[in-house]
Amino acid sequence: MLNAVKLSKIYEGGKHPVHALVEVDLSVEEGEFVAVMGPSGSGKSTLLHLLGGLDSPSSGAILLEGKVVSSLSDKEATLLRRRNIGFVFQFYNLLPTLSAEENILLPLLIDGKKPKGHEKEMEDLMEKVGILDRRSHRPSELSGGEQQRVSLARALITKPKILLADEPTGNLDSKTGSQVMELLALLSEEMKQTIIMVTHDPKAASYADRLVYLVDGKIRTELHFEKDLPVP
Ligand code: ADP
Ligand code: ADP
Repeated sequence: MLNAVKLSKIYEGGKHPVHALVEVDLSVEEGEFVAVMGPSGSGKSTLLHLLGGLDSPSSGAILLEGKVVSSLSDKEATLLRRRNIGFVFQFYNLLPTLSAEENILLPLLIDGKKPKGHEKEMEDLMEKVGILDRRSHRPSELSGGEQQRVSLARALITKPKILLADEPTGNLDSKTGSQVMELLALLSEEMKQTIIMVTHDPKAASYADRLVYLVDGKIRTELHFEKDLPVP
């Protein structure tokens, strides 16, 4: 589904260029749930941003369903992102003046679609992530866990091929974090949602099918949880 081929990113401009990613090869299958870990500065965010088309690589390529997507124009990349990629962030990034359901419908509006025809989808999604009874609440009236559920529903409303999550449990306590991870695992298992998640939290990573461990911009270790480890 998603392939990175010899993906490199060099940040120029500072005193010394920073080699944030060095010839990374990564293949993610449809329905796979991949966790990316590694020390601070190892290139995790850079990898996620490149895979999500938020930035372009210095060399190498990204293929989505066999099509090269790493050398598109900004406009094409934006469209591709809107149609194919859902993002979840550590700090939710919800709009404070909008209700939960308005936040969830926003990506459709941005994509020029009328929310009217999508009510049922939105309700199903809200039910799935467990926030249907919070539909009219604003973010400030929701707990951290609920805000992350709203942000998850917002990421999924466009039915993205890939869900990219950047420290989705980073701002949550351990119990709430586990609930959000169980939801991601459920999406992966039942809806075959492809997920790539950056995390510092080994417990969060243990919900994934595979762990990719980055050090100094290179993949140091890859581990298939189901095959190599007993189920946690
Ligand atoms: P991680 O997410 O693992 O902490 P990053 O991908 O954020 O790592 O960063 C990898 C390396 O690239 C680090 O050395 C970081 O300082 C550097 N870096 C990240 N973004 C930029 C940028 N916009 N300009 C210059 N250097 C950057
Ligand atoms: P557009 O170009 O469509 O107006 P943006 O480029 O601002 O929109 O953002 C497109 C998508 O990328 C949005 O889902 C946004 O939340 C996400 N995004 C923007 N900046 C970042 C970032 N630094 N890291 C991760 N995701 C981002």
